[in-house]
Amino acid sequence: MNPIAEPSFRESVDLMFKRAVSVMDLPPGLEEKIRVCNSTYTVRFGVRLRGQIHTFTGYRSVHSEHMEPVKGGIRYALGVNQDEVEALAALMTYKCALVEAPFGGSKGGLRIDPRQYEEHELERITRRFAYELVKRDLINPSQNVPAPDMGTGEREMAWIADQYRRMFTTDINAHACVTGKPIYAGGIEGRVEATGRGVQYALQEFFRHPEDLAVAGLSGQLEGKRIVVQGLGNVGYHAALFLSTEDGALITGIVERDGALVDDRGIDVQAVRSWIETHGGVAGYPHATYVAEGAAVLEKECDILIPAALEGVITLQNADRIRANLIIEAANGPITAGADDVLRNKGVVIIPDLYANAGGVTVSYFEWVKNLSQIRLGRMQRRQEEARHALLVQELERLDRYLGDAWSMTPSFKERYLKGADELELVRSGLDDTMRTAYQKMREVWHGRSNVPDLRVAGYIVAVERVAMSYRDKGL
Ligand code: NAD
Repeated sequence: MNPIAEPSFRESVDLMFKRAVSVMDLPPGLEEKIRVCNSTYTVRFGVRLRGQIHTFTGYRSVHSEHMEPVKGGIRYALGVNQDEVEALAALMTYKCALVEAPFGGSKGGLRIDPRQYEEHELERITRRFAYELVKRDLINPSQNVPAPDMGTGEREMAWIADQYRRMFTTDINAHACVTGKPIYAGGIEGRVEATGRGVQYALQEFFRHPEDLAVAGLSGQLEGKRIVVQGLGNVGYHAALFLSTEDGALITGIVERDGALVDDRGIDVQAVRSWIETHGGVAGYPHATYVAEGAAVLEKECDILIPAALEGVITLQNADRIRANLIIEAANGPITAGADDVLRNKGVVIIPDLYANAGGVTVSYFEWVKNLSQIRLGRMQRRQEEARHALLVQELERLDRYLGDAWSMTPSFKERYLKGADELELVRSGLDDTMRTAYQKMREVWHGRSNVPDLRVAGYIVAVERVAMSYRDKGL
């Protein structure tokens, strides 16, 4: 295989964008304006650790400011580079547009292996990185709002929020400068699980459309479907956990950094996660078969493959050997543009990243709204809703007494109906609605227009049309 044929991550995103705009009718020049990344800031800063100064390199890229603030996670990984950050920022633009989150696209990254540092060291590094970005309005509640990504989580977001607050002590909206914070620091219920939960909702919606299932050569329900997942981190863990414990799917393969686990009877996701936490990897897990060459398990026969670790894992080198009917891109960019062609020609259906992992930014949007409104979701309505439901229940109880043995309320009805929605329920409901609506919009374009070969092209078309409309409103 010629390695030159494999485009970089950013080139892959560009190629996928171009495939979509080639079947659209955009005004001359607008295509290029939308495609390019507006700016990328590179910062190198020093932190004194263990008696010597360490120099770190970080990036914050802004792809499109057609809406502000711009939004996108901050990633901590050794492989972080400008090309990657720009690709991820572009994906954020399309993702936000597709799920109607009112943001432009951005992304950040720090070239670091977080596992090599103690918590107090990571805090100093994160605060210093945040300081550099805040100084340039690359973290700001109304201009640029980061979130977690690979290698970062609630802890880092809490440090970033606190750093911003220290620099702008009178900003009443300081909390809203970053999302994915812990609840005590202004976060929202359901944010940690959001991306994995979104993957579950996306699959549930896909399975509501028998015609789409048929394109993938599948039928029936999620129950019993064999799933291979790569990466048991935030996204992969939650997706695999919910799909196995709530939808009855079987997790038949888990691919991690140090190898993979396989078991056709289904693997206990929670148990593997606990094992990883104590042993640092999947090796040695006693209740499934260990495969040292983890990447080979991506090629295991299954119904659904969920790459949820990193980009560029399905390439021209292995695409031909993938034996899944359906791939849902929980990670960003796991399939290169070349591999995308190979898989489509093989009849594999791909639920694309810009849609599949949009659960994170959707719930980040809810968190940002919560921060700006300074009130927990549901705080005003919950008891009022319960009181109104109580009125109905009282009437039903009267009827129950009146009708005697002829009719009675279902035993758990009263308890379930009386309970007003709390924040978590509202967040899940908003996320479910978002994932359903966006999928329906994509499939309308997929099946309803000519020259739209797959869901990825359809997703890009929906997103780019919305971005283009914003630019038109701005006079471009
Ligand atoms: P994470 O750091 O929590 O988890 C990544 C997991 O992948 C870890 O368990 C890690 O050990 C594993 N991994 C790393 N390299 C691997 C390899 N070569 N082979 C197999 N496993 C490997 O990260 P995350 O937040 O779950 O993000 C995963 C992907 O999802 C990324 O592409 C990210 O951009 C995307 N994403 C994340 C969010 C979010 O809310 N966290 C939102 C949207 C998209």
